[in-house]
Amino acid sequence: MHYDTLKSILKAGGASLTQPRKIIFDLMLNQGPQSMQVLVRRAKDKVDRATVYRTIELFERLGIVRRLNIGWKYKIELTDAFSGHHHHMYCTNCGRVFDLPDNPMLETMIDTVAAKSGFSPRGHQLEVYGLCANCSKA
Ligand SMILES: [Zn+2]
Ligand SMILES: [Zn+2]
Repeated sequence: MHYDTLKSILKAGGASLTQPRKIIFDLMLNQGPQSMQVLVRRAKDKVDRATVYRTIELFERLGIVRRLNIGWKYKIELTDAFSGHHHHMYCTNCGRVFDLPDNPMLETMIDTVAAKSGFSPRGHQLEVYGLCANCSKA
């Protein structure tokens, strides 16, 4: 079912589902945010570095993956179409990324607040940064 979505997004963007694209997509499915370094390492022997970068660039342009900026670095993950809507918490000390626990009230509240300004929200991004439980102990 994820492949159908992937195929139709690619098709709409004038691209097709090639083997390297499928491999890279598989490496991101059901995974948390990954750095390009990690992704390149995991794709090794199957897809070369340049192809990984090119594919991620294409995926990003078509809205298949999104880039999460963490300080001066970034990680990538699949967009809401594949991973479900969620938010992240970043630790500015160790660089780890955590999922913010789901909270329907928070989701509704963002839409309600936007609607009060006459805005029709289609989506949002929300990022929390600070120190993780581990780092705030130290
Ligand atoms: Zn930390
Ligand atoms: Zn949300």
